[in-house]
Amino acid sequence: MSRNRSGTDGPATRLSHGGRGDAYAGTVNLPPFRASTILFEDVEDLNSGDPDWTKTRYGRTGNPSSHAFEEAMAELEGGYRAVSFGSGLQAITTALQAFVRLGDHLLVTDSCYGPTREFCRDMLTAQGVEVEFYDPLVAGGIEALFRPNTRAVFLESPGSLSFEVQDVPAIARAARSRGIVTMVDNTWAAGWFFKPLAHGVDISIQAATKFIAGHADSNLGIAVCNEATYRPIKKAAILLGACAGSEDLYLGLRGLRTLGVRMERHQQTGLTLATWLTSRPEVARVVFPALPDDPGHALWKRDFTGACGLFTVELKPIPRRAMAAMVDGLRLFGIGFSYGGFESLILPTSPAKSRSATEFKAEGPLVRIHCGLEEPADLIADLEQGFARLTQEAAR
Ligand SMILES: *Cc1c(COP(=O)(O)O)cnc(C)c1O
Repeated sequence: MSRNRSGTDGPATRLSHGGRGDAYAGTVNLPPFRASTILFEDVEDLNSGDPDWTKTRYGRTGNPSSHAFEEAMAELEGGYRAVSFGSGLQAITTALQAFVRLGDHLLVTDSCYGPTREFCRDMLTAQGVEVEFYDPLVAGGIEALFRPNTRAVFLESPGSLSFEVQDVPAIARAARSRGIVTMVDNTWAAGWFFKPLAHGVDISIQAATKFIAGHADSNLGIAVCNEATYRPIKKAAILLGACAGSEDLYLGLRGLRTLGVRMERHQQTGLTLATWLTSRPEVARVVFPALPDDPGHALWKRDFTGACGLFTVELKPIPRRAMAAMVDGLRLFGIGFSYGGFESLILPTSPAKSRSATEFKAEGPLVRIHCGLEEPADLIADLEQGFARLTQEAAR
């Protein structure tokens, strides 16, 4: 409750107490608010309007569940206000549509999440937007790509699957000096290890599906905005009919309470596994900015306060069936999309296929690993047996 808040509270304290402004019969957690219709007192009340979207007038446009989650997320990422969505991808597509239209030029990182690329390439292009994919290592050189009609830059750092760390402050600075809007997909850092708005970015977007919800049981998105970008995004969300379900908002808010301890554990296990994997003869390299010899390590260290346990492993060249023998027999790593849940995942992946401006070079097969909350020693034992199957199959 707000009476317990203090401006000097640290991050973990804020996670526990953010977005708890409304007390409901003394419950600690706000129950999911289920409503489409909200009844008005009278005609005057109906006509009173809600110019800043702070009231509860209709389920889709804002209600106690969305207000609480948005307030807590804005606090986590240091934003003015936030807008919640039914999925991470809906947060991305709505934020883009809020700013780019016919005749505009949009710069998108070549390392972005696959469906983000497809939306830009297939839908925005059809709407008359000039979409240009840029090298994630461009840094301040982005300035040379700006055109008179450049409206927005879409960043993701580290990149999906390939994990390049971008010089976010340099890109944000260059864009701001030209009045170009910047938005970053901040899902990997979960808003816990990286604060884009403090580095000059206008909008920080997350698939709250991942670490915020944290239990692999919800699709949820969030766009944390500064004061200049909140209205256009909220307006676009309303015009596009985008909103999150109350059950998912509840799960997002509930997951948020333990985000700090979970992220620290994901990080520790990630470092342990990544370091162990680097020493394995079957592994060509581990692509993970938290490792000291990763090309993105210095930038990551400068701007981030930590790393989640999500990285890509390039195996030495082997037949695909040898990689499959390793992956198929794992006991603790599930094969599946997404990440950020309490359970470990492994996913064969090919970042090279979803690039157009740059190349992703790899000799051997690649797998992406999400380190869950299990015991690191058990995960290592599981992978060790996997490598034995891999070696056996490769020798056949
Ligand atoms: C998963 C993911 C998304 C999309 O989230 P959904 O909730 O599945 O729509 C967007 N960006 C990144 C980086 C993701 O990993």
